[in-house]
Amino acid sequence: MRIVLLGAPGSGKGTQAKLLVEKYKIPQMSTGDLLRAEVAAGTDLGKKAKAAMDAGQLVTDEIVLGMIQARLAKPDAKNGFILDGFPRNIPQAQALDAMLARLGQPLQLALLVDVTTDILMKRLTGRRSCGSCGAIYNIYFSAPKTSNKCDKCGSSLTHRSDDNEQTVGKRLGVYQQQTAPLANYYKAQGKLRTVRGVGVVSAIFKNATDIIESQIRPLADVMSKIESAAARQAAKAKAEEAKAKAAAKAAKAAKAAKPIPAAKAKPVVAAKAKPVVKKAAPKKVAPPPKAKAKSRKATKPATKAKKVK
Ligand code: AMP
Repeated sequence: MRIVLLGAPGSGKGTQAKLLVEKYKIPQMSTGDLLRAEVAAGTDLGKKAKAAMDAGQLVTDEIVLGMIQARLAKPDAKNGFILDGFPRNIPQAQALDAMLARLGQPLQLALLVDVTTDILMKRLTGRRSCGSCGAIYNIYFSAPKTSNKCDKCGSSLTHRSDDNEQTVGKRLGVYQQQTAPLANYYKAQGKLRTVRGVGVVSAIFKNATDIIESQIRPLADVMSKIESAAARQAAKAKAEEAKAKAAAKAAKAAKAAKPIPAAKAKPVVAAKAKPVVKKAAPKKVAPPPKAKAKSRKATKPATKAKKVK
């Protein structure tokens, strides 16, 4: 199962991705998470990405594509994946198509989680998360019982540095300008489906999985039928080739083992030998001392021949 989750920041696609991972046992690949891990580890890549992230801008395609390529090469990606937050623009989508074509694993579905801008704004600016257990809250929609404390483990909640109103505004602008056109990109490929991302998480998830099952299952069935027919065809061709080779080998062996009949052999040798002896005789007879005596004799028939004329 190879899926791209599309949606504006705050659409809840990350939450849906986690639920899909649990259900289908395939990895989630979030470029946002990968980048935040690089920033937290203080790597060169993280240092390069941080400024763009804090400004609500996209990190360069070069950085993101390198990260995704490395992630897709890991063994757990062979059974499928859920891409979350990638691609973010048309060049990234084209690069992804090229990478997946090389792996022989084209994308099966682009699922857009659709939410209006005013809800997105509240979701993003109100978002708080627990650094210890990962629980997520929202001060507008699902506030913790005690302000800024995790209900589950009591740790302090954090506010992502790019979740302030100004940066969120920029991120939504960047989404509209660069990422939203991906809907048409995937629509043109016949891979786009949309799920409304408002309401109870479990209900959104149910709609999402219904779409996935109806879009991917039949496709997977068709693909497996095509693949097994191709495998049967290849096995048949291989067996026929082996049979032809064996037959050719047997014919060669039989020919080599067959004795040449004596009666047939003699005339062949005699017929070939005669003209060779006739033509070779005059050329070989020419050594100088004996030749003088012989040549006198030899000239006689020549003169006779002239007389005949
Ligand atoms: P996210 O958690 O997906 O909202 O990503 C957080 C930030 O990481 C974004 O605002 C971008 O600065 C950066 N980012 C994540 N994914 C990408 C991507 N595919 N291309 C460029 N920048 C990205």
